[in-house]
Amino acid sequence: MDPLTLVTLFIFGIAIGSFLNVVILRYDGEHFLLDAKMIGGRSHCMHCRQTLRWFELVPLFSFLLQGGRCRRCKARLNIQYPIVELLSGSVFAFVPLVLGTGAAPLIAIAALWVAVFEALLVMAAIDIRLGIIPDEINIFLGVIGVFLAIVSVGYFGPANQSFLGPYAAIFGAQGSAILARAVGAVGAGAFFALLIAATRGRGMGMGDLKLAIPLGLVFGWPDIVFVLVFAFVAGAAVGVLAIVRGKNSMKGTLPFGPFLALGAATLFFWGAPIFSWYFSLLGIR
Ligand SMILES: [Zn+2]
Repeated sequence: MDPLTLVTLFIFGIAIGSFLNVVILRYDGEHFLLDAKMIGGRSHCMHCRQTLRWFELVPLFSFLLQGGRCRRCKARLNIQYPIVELLSGSVFAFVPLVLGTGAAPLIAIAALWVAVFEALLVMAAIDIRLGIIPDEINIFLGVIGVFLAIVSVGYFGPANQSFLGPYAAIFGAQGSAILARAVGAVGAGAFFALLIAATRGRGMGMGDLKLAIPLGLVFGWPDIVFVLVFAFVAGAAVGVLAIVRGKNSMKGTLPFGPFLALGAATLFFWGAPIFSWYFSLLGIR
């Protein structure tokens, strides 16, 4: 991909991220996620309620130029604004870069994966803010998973296409992309159901279970296993860090949605090098 396309995609992604910030911050858990009444209307400072002028609404730049503060009341602006904008820009630039955009079906596949990671970005930010995962996002991811299966089968053929590459054969169920996705969805759902039953709901919530099923459909078997492994490793690391630093957040509920998004991103962007390193340690090539 040429640098100009990459930069254009990045800037477009930042602008989309700016819109997603509004969706995230105005979501209340009751109205529909994209309710026009909720996300419409002029943007204003959350602190002094002053309506923002156009030059205060330029994604990323306004935040940087104003030093992260409101121009009038000097209240700190939510750090979520630049973080979501940068991550959204990165998704738009680097997802197509990883997949390549050679032929038309490949562009469609890249677009679907961009949608997956933009949805996971919104999900993670809302889970951090409210501790809930909107059903709209789960349904959206499920629909994207079905489209991914259809387009991928049409382009790559009926066999499963795993981010594990040749190592996927170790885990079986590789003959059919449809079967691999069905096993991924059912397996991830069953795993979280067992986890909730075993910990009597103290570990994971129903929100995590409802997200795991469409995520299994999107990634398929065995990739979803490693999305979960990376998510649990990251979650455990943050949990241990919190205990070491004296903040016993194990008592409180650490939202798991962001870790699932992190696990998905880890597999997608760094899965191949991680697997070839790991399996070469085991002497499997
Ligand atoms: Zn203000």
